[in-house]
Amino acid sequence: MSAPAVLAVVAHPDDESFGLGALLSEAAGAGSRVGVLCFTHGEASTLHGVDGDLRTVREQELRTAAERLGACWVRLLDHPDGGLAARGAALLDDTLAAIRTFSPDVLLVFDRDGVTGHADHIAATSAAVQAGRRLDVPVLAWTLPASVVEGMGDAGYAGFTGRPDRTIPLVVEVDRAAQLDAVHEHASQAVPGSPLWHRLELLGRTENLVWLHRSADLALPFRTIVRDTASS
Ligand SMILES: [Zn+2]
Repeated sequence: MSAPAVLAVVAHPDDESFGLGALLSEAAGAGSRVGVLCFTHGEASTLHGVDGDLRTVREQELRTAAERLGACWVRLLDHPDGGLAARGAALLDDTLAAIRTFSPDVLLVFDRDGVTGHADHIAATSAAVQAGRRLDVPVLAWTLPASVVEGMGDAGYAGFTGRPDRTIPLVVEVDRAAQLDAVHEHASQAVPGSPLWHRLELLGRTENLVWLHRSADLALPFRTIVRDTASS
């Protein structure tokens, strides 16, 4: 069986790298076709690590970072950054169209609560889950173990959400080299003091996943599975 094609469905340029980067590069390394559907240009960010118009800067950052992760396909849309919660129907249509074009075997998204709690993340995942159900494409979500959320809180980074460690059904080992290269391409956002750095340190060499929609018998696009309670 060939490696399953993976389509990341995200809200902002950098979500594919800061959040899903290690998983996407693992999938590409396992031979999967990897695509990225991103709903906004990230123009509303309060971070501005480089000069220039964020819309333009962040588009270029996304394209270069996606290449670093091994993605072969990027679709960047122009929904308003910060306004995705009001765009549910359009996000669903766009996701359905992307699935029909890219033909993924699995969608990769942020967990339902958005991981960082951002309303755009929640809306992006909601659209992906609806589209996945409609076309019966499995949806796998990146989540944080509660122990990592707690560690973030201890370091003063509030607002992250996750799931109790032992309830997380799928844990995979990752190499973060390509993710770190991709993160550095997002120079406007990967600024010193960002919670990102501490989160990556706490996560170490593993990432945590839950199914939001499952179909039968999907091969996983990851090489080293640490835990897979759903397959037994
Ligand atoms: Zn984001």
